[in-house]
Amino acid sequence: MNKILCNSSNRSVYAYSKNYKEFVYLPKDFEIAIDSSTLKESSDDYYARKSKFLEEKGFFDTVKHDFTDTYPSQSILYNLANLRSFVIEVTDGCNMACKYCGYRDLYDNYDERHNKKLSFNVVKSFIDYLKDLWNSPYNISYNNTITVSFYGGEPLTNMKLIRETIDYLESLNLPTITFRYNMTTNAYLLKECMDYLVEKDFSLLISLDGNRKNNSYRVLKNDKETFDVVVKNVKLLQETYPEFFESNVRFNSVLHNRNSSEEVIDYIQTTFGKVPNVALLNTNGVAKEKEEEFKKMFMTEVFVERDYSSCEDIDSDMLLADSKITLYNSFLSAFLSDTYTAYPDLFEEDNLPYVPTGTCQPFSRKIFLTVNGKILPCERVGQLFSLGTVTEEKVDIDFEYVSNFYANKYKKIIKRCSQCVLWKNCGLCVFYLKKKENGEEYCDRFLPYTKASAYMGEMLSFFENTPWIYKRILEDLSVY
Ligand code: SF4
Ligand code: SF4
Repeated sequence: MNKILCNSSNRSVYAYSKNYKEFVYLPKDFEIAIDSSTLKESSDDYYARKSKFLEEKGFFDTVKHDFTDTYPSQSILYNLANLRSFVIEVTDGCNMACKYCGYRDLYDNYDERHNKKLSFNVVKSFIDYLKDLWNSPYNISYNNTITVSFYGGEPLTNMKLIRETIDYLESLNLPTITFRYNMTTNAYLLKECMDYLVEKDFSLLISLDGNRKNNSYRVLKNDKETFDVVVKNVKLLQETYPEFFESNVRFNSVLHNRNSSEEVIDYIQTTFGKVPNVALLNTNGVAKEKEEEFKKMFMTEVFVERDYSSCEDIDSDMLLADSKITLYNSFLSAFLSDTYTAYPDLFEEDNLPYVPTGTCQPFSRKIFLTVNGKILPCERVGQLFSLGTVTEEKVDIDFEYVSNFYANKYKKIIKRCSQCVLWKNCGLCVFYLKKKENGEEYCDRFLPYTKASAYMGEMLSFFENTPWIYKRILEDLSVY
């Protein structure tokens, strides 16, 4: 029996039950009773009896979870037939040359960029393949909405393919499928394309790192600033199509050594009335010889160090945009028995074998078609992990191969995950494991159970100090 007792920064003590997924507050005498097996045996004291009661009811029992390294290939086929998101790399070319771009010299895990444009016939070949699956009995979704994302390079530099793809999708007349379109854009060409994007009701994610100084890594190939053009274009969109702007436009800002979360949020909120998503630089695939340069640029202060005690009226969007609160939200869903992040979680059986890490099932979240016709699980995964290919003539996805490919990756980490406190709220994708000098993959976030008390104590301290956040997470962000 392994008791987990955690201390908060306010000196409160809690016992955690892995079995019931509950925290119980322990007054001093209860803590002594729980901590001392001899006292519990001999004393008739109230807390000793209560402690004994908990033990008898299995409160401190260790629960063993089964882990598996296998997704059946059949499930992967189902995921494709019920696809939710299809990402198309319409070009590997870009009209900008941001210093930290994942497709420039800081990284080495992508295919060579040749300013190439994806051919419509390759996209058509893939859509035809997917259409057969969508029309098959494997499609069990009711009125599915599929998000089609146009990705680059800069997608606005290949509007021809975007128009052709949308025309083709709309000509299919699939009665149970609705297509929605979205795009991440640097907005440099937004002025020329905005009417079409509004007509097709695109969701736009605009990349902007804050004010002029904050945004200074986002430059043209001749090192010229892009700030004025981008801000002017986005303002024009806001003035011309205010309702579209309000409902369909969001901002993404990358955190680095020339900005801070606070500056970025302040600028974008003041200028455009929106709260941006603030993301870290991608740590995956940094070239060995660029590590020093990357470290100088890399900032982890993604959490706005707000005084949380004085912002109770923060709206729900802002609450969701706060990575720190997202982290606490996922802690509650993983460690309490009665909170869930989404309704489908209510149907999850607790005793099913668990696939390690926080990786999504292949193609369950999305599928990514690269400009070179490779198939990947998403655009954030290095392009060396191709799971299939698409040409003008055929689509080649071997579901057995995909299943084995993931199993081989999980085999390397499954034992570690089964011993990790974070197994249920793990946010690590298996494609992001770190590599040792000898090539062996490992997880640098592993948290052994010897550190569970400290970890939980830290989480509970936050909720004790800001109980309104606990309440808002339960009311606004989770299902309970
Ligand atoms: S990064 Fe990993 S977990 Fe996230 S969508 Fe891509 S494959 Fe899935
Ligand atoms: S943090 Fe690492 S060791 Fe822990 S569950 Fe996630 S991938 Fe596994």
